[in-house]
Amino acid sequence: MLRRLGAVLLVALVVGAVPGPTGADTWPLESRNEGAPATISLSQSGRSAGVPLAGRVVVIDPGHQLGNHRFPARINGQVPAGGFTKPCNTTGTSTNGGYPEATFAWQVSRLVARRLRDLGATVRLTRHSNRQDRWGPCVDERGRAGNAIGADLKLSVHADGTYAAGARGFHVIAPPDRAPWTNDIFRPSRRLAAAVKGALLSQRFGVATYIAGGDGLDVRSDLGTLNLSDVPTVMVELGNMRGSDARVMTSAPGRARYTRGLVAGVRAFLG
Ligand code: ZN
Repeated sequence: MLRRLGAVLLVALVVGAVPGPTGADTWPLESRNEGAPATISLSQSGRSAGVPLAGRVVVIDPGHQLGNHRFPARINGQVPAGGFTKPCNTTGTSTNGGYPEATFAWQVSRLVARRLRDLGATVRLTRHSNRQDRWGPCVDERGRAGNAIGADLKLSVHADGTYAAGARGFHVIAPPDRAPWTNDIFRPSRRLAAAVKGALLSQRFGVATYIAGGDGLDVRSDLGTLNLSDVPTVMVELGNMRGSDARVMTSAPGRARYTRGLVAGVRAFLG
């Protein structure tokens, strides 16, 4: 384990010393509509005929970046996080088999984005790659990602990594009523949290067994990704990668089921 850590640090030092095109996936980012027009103008009948999310703007934030562990100086740099500073980001967790949270969040987020676009929404991602030679963006950029474009909501996709015995299940984190940061968005954000929770339950996912309250909902004031948002937002921890959830997360049918839950939650919130 120590030898492996040393190798990672050595790689990080070497990569960090090489100038070049590697670096952060920074906001602002293109919308990556993959051929769909950025703005879709449709009649009411058009909305009901297969593009129910026309005119809606959704930001999907796939947690972390695969290469974060190779850029410790960048990732540990302090950034504003809502009345305090915090490290730019973290490396995220992984399954015991080595499937990274960054990759899981990336794969699910891409599936969610594709489905929402099929439904007519404009979707923006906070990163456009899942690569070992990239880092970021930092939590402050992720936090502000929906603001300038007036997104209808921002969904941040993560997974947990706890070794607590038997820990499994998802939970949805919403921002608190805290001026001047999230007092303006906490009400719709809690509606979004309830919608996402209900939709994941209907896809047969269970709420987290290891979060206080046990109702699958949490409120946190320490997350820049939530604190800096001016649009309704939640962070979803889809499961515990270190526990039995890993089996579902590492399977394509499992990720498709997470996707159905998240898309249904977004749709329920947007009405
Ligand atoms: Zn995470």
